[in-house]
Amino acid sequence: MFYDECVQALLDRGVKIEDIANCAEFLHKPYQNDITKEEIIANIQEILKKREVQNAVLTAIELDRLCEEDKFHNKEFQKAVLDDDGLYGIDEVLAYGICNIYGSIALTNFGYIDKVKPGIIGVLNEPQKGCCNTFLDDIVGAIAASAASRLAHGKKD
Ligand code: MG
Repeated sequence: MFYDECVQALLDRGVKIEDIANCAEFLHKPYQNDITKEEIIANIQEILKKREVQNAVLTAIELDRLCEEDKFHNKEFQKAVLDDDGLYGIDEVLAYGICNIYGSIALTNFGYIDKVKPGIIGVLNEPQKGCCNTFLDDIVGAIAASAASRLAHGKKD
C-alpha cells in the first residue's frame, strides 16, 4: 500500500486533498447541493486507497520529476513532455487508468474538468519555469472526476 506515499507526494507537488475536493465539489455540487466537504474528502481518501490509483499517481509524479531534473535520455522528447506538447496525450491516457475504475461518469467528468480547469488544475496548468506538471494536472482531474462519479453512484466501493 502506498497511500501515505501518495498523499505526501501530492503535497510535495503542491496538491492538498482539499484542493482535489474543491474540484470534485465543482463537478458534483450541481447534482447534490447538500454534499459536505467532509464527505467529498472521505471519498477521495477511499479512491487513494486503491493500489491501481496509487500506481498511477506515483508514476505520474515520478515522470514529472524526472522531466524537471533533466533526466530523460531523449532531450527533444523531454522538451515535448515539459511543454505538454499538443500532440502528447499520454498524460491523459495514464489518468484514464483511474477514471476507468469508476466508470462512464468519471470519464465524462474528466473530459469536462480538463477543459474548464477549475482551481488547482488551472494552477498546475500555468507554465512555470523549470517546473513540470504535465502528468500531475491530469491525475488530479481524474481523482476529482472519479470522486464525483463515486458520489453519484452513492456507494462505498
Ligand atoms: Mg497534462
